Amino acid sequence: FFFIFYLSLGSNMNILASRLNRIQPSPTIAMSIKARELKAEGKNIIELAAGEPDFPTPPHIIKAAEDAMSRGETKYTDPDGTPVLKQAICEKFKRDNNLDYVTSQVTIGTGGKQVLYNALMATLNAGDEVIIPAPYWVSYPDMVLLAEGTPKIVECPLDKNFILQPEDLERAITPKTKWIILNSPSNPTGSGYTWEDLKKLTDILIQYPNVWVMTDDMYEHLVYDDFKFCTPAQVEPELYSRTLTVNGMSKAFCMTGWRIGYAAGPENLITAIRKIQSQSTSNPSSISQAASVAALNGPMDFLAKNNYVFKQRRDLVCSMLNQAKGITCPTPDGAFYVYPSCAGLIGKKTPDGKMLKTDEDVVTYLLETEGIAAVHGAAFGLSPHFRISYATSTEALEDACQRIQRACSALA
Ligand code: PLP
Repeated sequence: FFFIFYLSLGSNMNILASRLNRIQPSPTIAMSIKARELKAEGKNIIELAAGEPDFPTPPHIIKAAEDAMSRGETKYTDPDGTPVLKQAICEKFKRDNNLDYVTSQVTIGTGGKQVLYNALMATLNAGDEVIIPAPYWVSYPDMVLLAEGTPKIVECPLDKNFILQPEDLERAITPKTKWIILNSPSNPTGSGYTWEDLKKLTDILIQYPNVWVMTDDMYEHLVYDDFKFCTPAQVEPELYSRTLTVNGMSKAFCMTGWRIGYAAGPENLITAIRKIQSQSTSNPSSISQAASVAALNGPMDFLAKNNYVFKQRRDLVCSMLNQAKGITCPTPDGAFYVYPSCAGLIGKKTPDGKMLKTDEDVVTYLLETEGIAAVHGAAFGLSPHFRISYATSTEALEDACQRIQRACSALA
């Protein structure tokens, strides 16, 4: 009996690959799941952890999907996307970013997440370094680790508006550096790189021909006030031949569930990504691709309307959080997140006598006492902060910020 027990235990333990030990499940998804479970138990939870717009997909995009299904576009497509969507993407890059790409330089995947993952899998050898400014989108370091690379985290603190400084970039570059990942406007901070910010970085990058640029422009269209979006290959044409410009439908087009992301870059890299995709997911959904053609070629007036609402919510949240004792909330340029500092809460005691030592303690305290589901800064590589997504109703945000103010006042 013991022998059989030992064998079965052994085989259970051996089934998992050692590469899994390098990564963790996404902490933002974990928090969203936890919030949903607590809600299902009847708790009064306000979910501010998920990174998706609360607006529905615009009707003309849904109609295009229905039409595609009726026409029978329900089959496999080319592995990295349909020619018609690739063409729409080339036109988008020209129109919005003044970048010239042909369809053989475009890849389409099941979300920007898959495109980024494919690109890292296609290029990293064991030990290759990837520079990731922190705070970062949670998936970058773990994707690098899965692909056997080494994340090289460079902290970009609040007093620098969370923007990578040229001297810090230069210090982080080594002979092993393969990529730098840039993300503007950023998840989790909402900070955007101006043309001048990017130029200072690209002036350095052109001196290091072995370093490639992966730019995640997912929040390009979600910018407020006078902020002007720009992307590295546009700012420094010399970098065009070693830049992968990544974008997607999820955020601005309110299409998170449709799972379409895309990228453009040098043809040999795009061909390598295609090879990986042809052996993994085969192709992104044919129906979602048809919908994305309608989105990219269709009317964009809903963007200004959504942004107007997002900006109002941003202003509301920043103002209310800045009135909470111990919280400092900078005003972001874009995306739909705020990344306040909770340094003023660290070391304080909760009403039941617990000391708040980390931003994870702060987030747990907010969840347990006031039902606020936010994500702790450590998950994004820069503490003590927490991230709130304001892609939720204005009433819920007002209620949430009042609860946070109350929780902060209750600390001693
Ligand atoms: N990049 C950033 C910075 C994000 O915030 C997200 C989603 O949260 C993604 C990429 C991936 O988006 P998707 O896979 O839905 O296109």
